[in-house]
Amino acid sequence: MNEKIKVACPRFGNYHIALEFLFTKGLGVEYVTPPPSTKKTLEIGSKYSPDFVCSPFKFNLGNYIEAIEAGANTLIQTGGVCRLGYYGELHEQILKDLGYNVNFVNMSKASYNNPLSFYNEFKKVNPNMNIKKVSTVLIATLKMVECIDEIDDFVRQNVGFEVKDGSMEKIQEEFLEELRSAETKKDIEKITKKCKKRLKDVKLKKPKKIMRVGIVGEYYTIMEPFSNHYIEKELAKKGIVIYRWMNVSNSVLHHNGKEQKKEIKNYVKYYMGATSMATVYKTLEWAKAGFDGIVHVKSFGCTPEIDAMPVLQKISNDYKIPILYFSFDSQTSETGIQTRLEAFYDMIMMRKEKK
Ligand code: SF4
Repeated sequence: MNEKIKVACPRFGNYHIALEFLFTKGLGVEYVTPPPSTKKTLEIGSKYSPDFVCSPFKFNLGNYIEAIEAGANTLIQTGGVCRLGYYGELHEQILKDLGYNVNFVNMSKASYNNPLSFYNEFKKVNPNMNIKKVSTVLIATLKMVECIDEIDDFVRQNVGFEVKDGSMEKIQEEFLEELRSAETKKDIEKITKKCKKRLKDVKLKKPKKIMRVGIVGEYYTIMEPFSNHYIEKELAKKGIVIYRWMNVSNSVLHHNGKEQKKEIKNYVKYYMGATSMATVYKTLEWAKAGFDGIVHVKSFGCTPEIDAMPVLQKISNDYKIPILYFSFDSQTSETGIQTRLEAFYDMIMMRKEKK
């Protein structure tokens, strides 16, 4: 292992476990997991960011600075299908101006159409990497991502009904910790199987009329719970089954853009960018399935998701499904979120009882 290379990526849901696996086992470098995002992370990021940039930029910058302080000397910059693709260069310049002397590897320079471009970027992380090893570990990493998402889905849909509060969260935390000791794809599958069994054994108490709410919206804000003020958890606690399609498995590994476009053709004619097509697609599907409500989340100033909002409103009118819209930035008030969630819950509950 090369002791000198210490890699860090921005914090994003539970995927740091998979990234740690990829970089340590595959590329043979040390991985520095940035501390979980907090108010302090956002404050640091906001202090050095342009005021009107969307909040994923600010969170990522805060994560980078906290990772450097924790010992990272190589930062992986993310690519993306919106302006996220340009963020890497801007982050790099800001960090250089602040006097941080670190190595930057910009993944937005790689393209899915050219797998060799990923190899070239990985080479910048560790020029001595073994391509065979990286390929094997990459396959296992993708499996790990799928397992993390699968467990996350199960918890989201059941946690609101557990008899003993915190049972599922504890099992999930232990699962993630155990994944850190995995060496192979087989280990990952074994650990996941064990976790699924434990989760299925958790005692649940479900009411006769179960409420279903779907969460849609922008990539980062929907998947990084601190940035959306843990709204999934807040809603689930009220005894609601929470559905969320947007995760790395669905949006990257098994994505079928053509099918989405076909399904929403009566509402969307042209490609709208970033996650907005998926937002419309899942809203329509869940509206047709008779869900009790939809929650739309995005970062303040996220143009692709702003474009999706009038379409969601149309679906809401056509299918008589309530939609709650949240736009998060560094100034969002916790009390305001709680009040709106309470009101939304009361409203969908009354509608359910009337039905
Ligand atoms: S999808 Fe929206 S919030 Fe996310 S990076 Fe792009 S513009 Fe910003």
